[in-house]
Amino acid sequence: MNPHKLPSIGYDVIFDDTLTELHRFIQQHTYSKILILTDRNTCIHCLPVLQEAMPGFDGYDVIEVDPGEENKNIDFCVGIWKMMLDFGADRQSLLINLGGGVITDMGGFTASTFKRGIDFVQVPTTLLSQVDASVGGKTGVDMDHVKNIIGTFAQPKAVFIASTFLRTLNQRQLVSGFAEIIKHGLIADRSFYEAIKGLDATAISLEHIRHSVAIKNNVVTQDPLEKGLRKILNFGHTIGHALEGHSLANDRNPLLHGEAIAAGMICEAYLAHRLNGLSEDALDDIIQTFRRHFPDYSYDREIYEALLALMKNDKKNAGHRIGFSLLSTIGQCDIDVFVEEDVIVESLDFYRNLIGSGR
Ligand code: NAD
Repeated sequence: MNPHKLPSIGYDVIFDDTLTELHRFIQQHTYSKILILTDRNTCIHCLPVLQEAMPGFDGYDVIEVDPGEENKNIDFCVGIWKMMLDFGADRQSLLINLGGGVITDMGGFTASTFKRGIDFVQVPTTLLSQVDASVGGKTGVDMDHVKNIIGTFAQPKAVFIASTFLRTLNQRQLVSGFAEIIKHGLIADRSFYEAIKGLDATAISLEHIRHSVAIKNNVVTQDPLEKGLRKILNFGHTIGHALEGHSLANDRNPLLHGEAIAAGMICEAYLAHRLNGLSEDALDDIIQTFRRHFPDYSYDREIYEALLALMKNDKKNAGHRIGFSLLSTIGQCDIDVFVEEDVIVESLDFYRNLIGSGR
């Protein structure tokens, strides 16, 4: 197997710091129009990297949107669709999504719905989008602070991962991506978790990224439409998404995705200990790992109702029951564990007490 190429669901994930493969991909295809979707930051920091790596590649138009999760919504998609029309995009066009998870999610969604679907490739530029968001074919946007509630399953033509882009990423964003790498170890690969849990996020290499993507890819290729196994990737996300949505709506400096799911993973590790056989030692280890890398997030009991309401909108639920993916041990995760509200509240209290007590 080519170590730089991971076959996924009808496309390859290509690990290539030189971006030669992206250049080759474009040269091998005859697209009528090439559009590059960026946000303001990736337009400044990442587009020049792309241009430098692909000399002579200039027949494209750039769509630039405002950065940030608060802009991952249908209004921005309408803006993108209009720009596509203005640039004369047709069904034979290609959209290159150059950015973090907001761009790869929103770009994948707009491409998969424009004129009933045009080709797109993902060129993720944050650690989080490289190890997670750009692979697996989930696209979408938020609505009313409910995360990813509108979206499609749509596979890109290819994903090109270059750690070169990470040079301009700030430390907070880098650490945010580390949360998903840790998660991949926790749900499926204990030795990987042990190897990376003590690393500084700046020490993450292209090989760590490749290993992390391989874990996710192994899951999504077995269950592309999240009928079963794929749900293990949601560990930490039921509570994490609720915290993220609530923080987005209420905090002046909202939680980043990885920060929210880091807190979510502590709460859900508590649930796993309480309900799913996760040992106390494992719980302590997970708490230590996340608290070493991520800032504590404080909230009070007054927000519980809002958090539970957000969790009830989660796509993993069946009827009114709130569904979780919970670890049974480090390296193994069970799906469809339905948890009563009072136990979820216990887990939220557990996190509050933890950060309050400085354990
Ligand atoms: P993001 O896209 O908002 O990027 C974070 C910030 O970094 C932005 O301000 C962006 O402009 C900036 N940036 C991006 N690349 C840069 C670079 N190389 N240098 C300097 N600045 C750069 O956020 P994110 O953390 O990448 O992604 C989070 C999103 O991903 C969330 O919306 C989450 O729901 C989604 N996600 C999706 C999946 C999936 O399977 N589809 C999985 C995980 C997360």
